[in-house]
Amino acid sequence: SRLKLIVTGGAGYVGSVCTARLLEAGHEVVVVDDLSTGHADAVPDGARFVEGDAADATASLLGEGFDGVLHFAAKSLVGESMQDPAKYWHGNVITSIRLLDAMRAHGTPRLVFSSTAATYGEPERSPIPETAPTMPTNTYGASKLAIDHAITSYARAHGLAAVSLRYFNVAGAYGRFGERHTTETHLIPLVLQVATGDRPHISIFGEDYPTDDGTAVRDYIHVADLADAHLLALTHARAGEHRIYNLGNGTGFSVRQVIEACRTVTGHPIPAEVAPRRAGDPAILVAASDRAREELGWKPERADLEGIVRDAWRFTQERKALGG
Ligand code: UDP
Repeated sequence: SRLKLIVTGGAGYVGSVCTARLLEAGHEVVVVDDLSTGHADAVPDGARFVEGDAADATASLLGEGFDGVLHFAAKSLVGESMQDPAKYWHGNVITSIRLLDAMRAHGTPRLVFSSTAATYGEPERSPIPETAPTMPTNTYGASKLAIDHAITSYARAHGLAAVSLRYFNVAGAYGRFGERHTTETHLIPLVLQVATGDRPHISIFGEDYPTDDGTAVRDYIHVADLADAHLLALTHARAGEHRIYNLGNGTGFSVRQVIEACRTVTGHPIPAEVAPRRAGDPAILVAASDRAREELGWKPERADLEGIVRDAWRFTQERKALGG
């Protein structure tokens, strides 16, 4: 059935892809985004766009009557979160609690929240299940974990139907929606900037990790597979419950393997130089996402790394042709 939804952060990477998929599925979407990191032209056609704060603007819309909120809007740079923690405690935690209060005041029944593998910190075992201890090693992860705790208690006390989705490494693109960060820190878009000639080489952050080739291992998930989990989460959310699901493919790729996949896809030699480890980077982060598969019926359709890189590369070239 057609749901009337608010998507905060719908002008950003994951939020825009999810909005596009929600519209395709026949839902009605209002995007709320303050454009601090998003782009107005990334809001999919067919969504109504309200420029504003994720809590304030959403609060003033909720009186219209909505079936749910998908809350993507967030600060998400690990390094910045260590330099400027207030930006994360206010921008992520306080804003999200104010959003929860507004939803409670208006009786909005459903919430799907963008959580992260960074809530687990340096894992004791791999792959990581949702039952693993949560000991974030950076303020970004701590802020997302604090919000997860708030959601749990609001769901229990006030009957909210809530789902947190813990993303591993999101990559790829969908249609005209992809990664367009002004400050780009993610591996695949940075490697592709070497292939377009916008960057001389890629730095490999650490070659002395306890992994097969010494470089860090991550679980790369296609943004469209991630978006599909949000649609399933909306229909599986139950009043009074807060469910938490890891989203990843369950397969790890090293930094060197990612660079090699980018060489294959782009045909560019992509020079790489070894650099020191980046502070706070765990050696291996791979998801156990059995819970999402079993309870949501979620199945990633685009798990192939070269396929993920191919979509990111197509998007990168299209953006470059548009002039940025
Ligand atoms: N990485 C790297 N060089 C870069 C950017 C990232 O070697 O220029 C590594 C990083 O240390 C990590 C992996 O690539 O091991 C993925 O990093 P990314 O920032 O994409 O995602 P994260 O795992 O930090 O969420």
